[in-house]
Amino acid sequence: MSLEIGRKRLPMFQQQAKIALQNPQLRRNLGKATQTIRAKRALVVGEVPDWEELREAGRAIKERTLRHLDTYLLQLEASVQRAGGHVHWARDAQEANDIIIALAKQHKAREIVKAKSLTTDEMHVNEALEQVGIKAYETDLAELILQLSGDEPSHILVPAIHKNRSEIYATFQRTMHDVDIELSDDPKVLTAAARQYLRKIFLRAPFAITGANFAVAETGTIGVVESEGNGRMCVTLPQVLVSVMGIEKVLPTWQDLAVFLQLLPRSSTGERMNPYTSLWTGVKEGDGPQEFHLVILDNGRTQVLADQIGRQALNCIRCSACLNICPVYERTGGHAYSSVYPGPIGAILTPQLLGIEQAESLPFASTLCGACYEVCPVKINIPEVLLHLRGEIVRERQQHALKSTFDGENLTMQAMAYMFAKPARYERAQQLARIGQLPFEHQGKLNHLPGLFAGWTSARDMPGIPKQTFREWWRERERGRPPKHDPDAAQTQLQAQPQVQEQELQQGYKQVQEGRQ
Ligand code: SF4
Repeated sequence: MSLEIGRKRLPMFQQQAKIALQNPQLRRNLGKATQTIRAKRALVVGEVPDWEELREAGRAIKERTLRHLDTYLLQLEASVQRAGGHVHWARDAQEANDIIIALAKQHKAREIVKAKSLTTDEMHVNEALEQVGIKAYETDLAELILQLSGDEPSHILVPAIHKNRSEIYATFQRTMHDVDIELSDDPKVLTAAARQYLRKIFLRAPFAITGANFAVAETGTIGVVESEGNGRMCVTLPQVLVSVMGIEKVLPTWQDLAVFLQLLPRSSTGERMNPYTSLWTGVKEGDGPQEFHLVILDNGRTQVLADQIGRQALNCIRCSACLNICPVYERTGGHAYSSVYPGPIGAILTPQLLGIEQAESLPFASTLCGACYEVCPVKINIPEVLLHLRGEIVRERQQHALKSTFDGENLTMQAMAYMFAKPARYERAQQLARIGQLPFEHQGKLNHLPGLFAGWTSARDMPGIPKQTFREWWRERERGRPPKHDPDAAQTQLQAQPQVQEQELQQGYKQVQEGRQ
């Protein structure tokens, strides 16, 4: 079997964002949904007096686990095997898909139920299974909506966030022919229809695939948290269960798990605890699936681990708080990121998983406002990683001599570095810029710059360079003259201040200067 997975160059974020911004319905849907989730999160996080300590504990556990990842993964493997499960190691998506296909064929499974899992989306497992004639059914409501409408997820937690109920109603009307419910755009009716549609599939599918939010090394326990109960059905009804986890999902102990079961629901759905927390350890006769396989996936993660700054992206617990707070995500939505990992976490994780040259526009998909860092339950410093990756991209460009010679941004940066190197040069450049801006200045604002700088003024005005810089003002002040840029204020000041006060003021300035020297 061959399927093109993952490694191809992604479209430029800036171009995709422009397309998304043309869609006012998308912006309305996103704005409403993200504001609601943000408000819920703020409320429940505010209830926890030691929230900051909890975040710090989450960060520390993740970092310690990554430092000893090899030990904990081997411990997990041994624990799962001891509990009667089987463990498979997959270097990439292709290997993981091949393992799942072989298992499905071995059990003659033609239909598979699937719980929501970003890792399996990353592997494109549905498409891989389809190529060999096996149908995988998404059972999470939002994932089902996307599967039925042939659409892609645009949010980590709420994959169909870009769709409103009229769009969902239209999709169900077109695709759900065997449900005996009169459809409407009422959310309750739509949910009931989905439940009826899925129940029949649950009862006949012999094989299930899930992801794993966490895997506890000391006991080999796998955990999935969700809100609808479909995940619980997947891990209890079918005879064969395959769970796929990235190498970073392992946790050393149950005590560690307790920290994340507090951090995750509050940060993701704004709930105090997840409605369904399913935990299973190997197999148990007469209870749930009688065969359990755990696929442990690398798919670029070890290369992320090798980067001392970038590796913190592996701490992510996929809560989506950074997406909901991000002003860029709120306007463009997830499709502009062209990855199963959109938003701020996607901007740092996707380029590292795929290789930075495949997704070099993503680290620039941010205003660096820092809101994502403030809300992240495991304190991933996303702005720091964004800057680190941007630096790598620029250095990469500079290494390509031909490209750097003609790269406008690179030349501009070199000119800026030359200018900032000496104060005299900087002042001269300011004087020249003051003359150069004359054709573009209008009432103290630059609203239409040419060439390379046009992007700055295409959507906003830029303040013009002032007629007098602070240093010029200061020098004049030193000479005892009134500042020339504000004659009215200077006149008032001179009239109000007697000569003696002026001398005292001058003395004060001198003392401050001497103190600095
Ligand atoms: S980076 Fe942090 S805030 Fe964003 S999804 Fe991951 S854990 Fe949540």
